[in-house]
Amino acid sequence: VAAELATLRDLPAKTVDGSRIPLWVNTGLLADVTRSLERGAEGIGLYRTEIPFMVREFFPSEHEQMQIYRRQLEAFAPLPVTMRTLDIGGDKSLPYFPIKEENPFLGWRGIRVTLDHPEIFMVQLRAMLRANEGLGNLRIMLPMVTSVNEVDEANNLLDRALHELQEEGYVVERPLVGVMIEVPAAVYQLRRFAKRVDFISVGSNDLTQYLLAVDRNNPRVAGLYVPYHPAVLKVLDLIAREARKEKLPVSICGEMAAEPGGALLLMAMGYDALSMNATNLPRVKSTIRRVSMVQAKVLLDKVMRMDDADKIQALMIETMDSMG
Ligand code: PEP
Ligand code: MG
Repeated sequence: VAAELATLRDLPAKTVDGSRIPLWVNTGLLADVTRSLERGAEGIGLYRTEIPFMVREFFPSEHEQMQIYRRQLEAFAPLPVTMRTLDIGGDKSLPYFPIKEENPFLGWRGIRVTLDHPEIFMVQLRAMLRANEGLGNLRIMLPMVTSVNEVDEANNLLDRALHELQEEGYVVERPLVGVMIEVPAAVYQLRRFAKRVDFISVGSNDLTQYLLAVDRNNPRVAGLYVPYHPAVLKVLDLIAREARKEKLPVSICGEMAAEPGGALLLMAMGYDALSMNATNLPRVKSTIRRVSMVQAKVLLDKVMRMDDADKIQALMIETMDSMG
């Protein structure tokens, strides 16, 4: 198995009819980076910066953050490393920054928290920009965006951080900036985002939960949390189409991309890159290498015409089984 993995590592994720799609990883800790490189990741599509914050006793300083971020960037340079700004609230809390709410998934989460606390946000942005000095492979991504004014505010703070650092003598440059599409409202504003950012990335974990009104962590309704729900597939397809119209690069970093079947459908929809956990990457790659884009599109076409999530699920299992 180790030898097989090693061979696969250096082969491209390319279909038999020549469609090539970059496979990226989702990381949090430094250990994920080593594992990801061993498994042939071509970049980081989602670095969850809240993870290093969670394993500490207080907010890491700008210098500490800079060092943590630098290690992720260095390990992958010149390949892209997409750092998501602090995404706390919802299911992720920091012991030293408690948030108590009745309904945390509809509450103070992600960009909402950091825009209310520019002092926390600015330290993080400065640390990211400094970590990128001399490397240039940083991309910054904003979580839980609902409205364009959040993007404008974040862009302004980023410009301010850049300006400050340049005044202080650092050689920093503006990285590519993107928004996560994980709130249904964001899906319908892609045009407006396209004027403001360089890329988008779909957070299908949250998008599924908000579309279906199903808590992603509640075991009682786990059976209703279905990534192959026709509504979810329709929305994912719509996002890919709209992004293409706007010439806006679109990737996906939710768990759906980590399922070989899900990955095929997303590739057929036209996603530009798939980001997943390192464990599943080789499996997804070997599936992609065994099919043609034509086959994937036929499957997508079939699935998009079905109206029942269970039947879609069954078809996906059957199709994947038949591919070995
Ligand atoms: C998502 O919501 O799909 C996502 C990738 O982010 P997280 O799982 O960290 O909320
Ligand atoms: Mg999310």
